[in-house]
Amino acid sequence: MTKHVVVVGGGLIGLCTSYWLLRAGHRVTIVERSHLGAGAATGNAGELTPQMVAPLASSNTARDIVSGLFSTNSYLSIAPLKLPQLAGFGLGFLASSLPRQRAKGDAALAQFLPHMLPSLEAMAEDGVDTSGGGSGYLMTARDEPTLLAAHALYADRATRGWAEAPGEPLSGASLRAAEPALTPETEYGFMLPGEFSLDPVTFVASLIARVEELGAEVRTGLEAERLGSGASVISRDEDAREVEVRGDRVVLASGAWTTGLLRRSGIFCAASVTAGKGYSFTVPVERMPATLVHSMDLHCVAIPMHGRLRIVGMMEFDGMPERTNVDRFDVLAGFASQVIAGADWDARTDEWMGPRPMTSDGLPLLGRLPGRDEVIVAAGHNMHGLSLGPLTGQIVTDLVAGREPGVDGWPFDLGPFAVQRLL
Ligand SMILES: Cc1cc2nc3c(=O)[nH]c(=O)nc-3n(C[C@H](O)[C@H](O)[C@H](O)COP(=O)(O)OP(=O)(O)OC[C@H]3O[C@@H](n4cnc5c(N)ncnc54)[C@H](O)[C@@H]3O)c2cc1C
Repeated sequence: MTKHVVVVGGGLIGLCTSYWLLRAGHRVTIVERSHLGAGAATGNAGELTPQMVAPLASSNTARDIVSGLFSTNSYLSIAPLKLPQLAGFGLGFLASSLPRQRAKGDAALAQFLPHMLPSLEAMAEDGVDTSGGGSGYLMTARDEPTLLAAHALYADRATRGWAEAPGEPLSGASLRAAEPALTPETEYGFMLPGEFSLDPVTFVASLIARVEELGAEVRTGLEAERLGSGASVISRDEDAREVEVRGDRVVLASGAWTTGLLRRSGIFCAASVTAGKGYSFTVPVERMPATLVHSMDLHCVAIPMHGRLRIVGMMEFDGMPERTNVDRFDVLAGFASQVIAGADWDARTDEWMGPRPMTSDGLPLLGRLPGRDEVIVAAGHNMHGLSLGPLTGQIVTDLVAGREPGVDGWPFDLGPFAVQRLL
């Protein structure tokens, strides 16, 4: 039976979800506080990464968190004044860094891996634009131990059937012959052949067009304040007037803002969504890299996108998802200039900031709200909202239809993604 679904948030997850709901014949109303494609939807790295989708928490990032507290020059930064506000998230993050917890998170996310590209391909066959990037990433490092550790990790993931095996490690002259756009200090690298990238700007624009063509009702400039009774959302319009939007189901796809919305609705979840802000810009280069270049030690990515080079990186926790800290662009340029040669770092354009919806265990909140079967949460996709977005839309569509979620006959276990889970 077709339903009227109110989707809160028109970012990556809200748009992918609306798309699959509309294709299944449901009626969709999108409630968006700003414009469609706001939040973290467009300025990101455009990576779809069957090999790399994993929780952020690990013993390495736990160490980086400590240094991020005391440095303004680190890829991972935490505002010390916000520590009380971020303490719960930080403790959950440290607990999730323990090897057993991390392995559980890896296995939960691995359910998405075989299906993420087919889900995107189905959208592409229907006219959604997935162009602008390409296949295969060059993973780089300045030191051999970093390279070898990462190579072993990806080789191990390949033996589990999670993706293709990494290419042979390269170094020095053979690396530079393979990719002349690298700086001399970038000594080590290997290819990850199974990864894919696209231009999120054109992807999101075409997804918006397709969702509108399929008949979505779009209500921008309307901020959901809290859940109403049943399947309804109480919102405020730009003149601060209260507006109730009612349907048969509500999907909360409000990214980094989701925990605030739940709390204003009187719902407290141990797994909160916290903004981990990232930055990007475009830079002119003498020579375009042949593929996406992902620096594992400098934590930045250079992505050829429709003939331009986008630089992406940083993970900033300061409790202010809307605020751009302009000094972060210089820090990011400082990292990227150690990876990519021949760029004019002072001539950068398209400077952008977006809040990644981070959870401390690295898993999205995906499923029905306990006690409120008419409300589905699809938020907290961390660094992977583009990779996981298309399949998330299909899973939510199953939930709306009252089916157990599954793909191609394989059941999908939503247990690890429960909205009310213990950390
Ligand atoms: C620098 C950077 C690089 C990234 N690179 C990649 C990558 O390469 N690959 C990948 O898979 N992911 C990447 N990500 C992560 C990805 O962008 C996010 O996971 C994804 O955008 C999350 O989608 P979302 O819909 O949950 O949130 P968003 O895309 O942020 O959308 C949330 C939407 O909800 C709206 N909203 C919020 N609150 C309300 C409210 N109360 N009422 C109405 N509307 C509301 C917002 O305005 C926004 O439009 C990157 C992120 C960043 C910042």
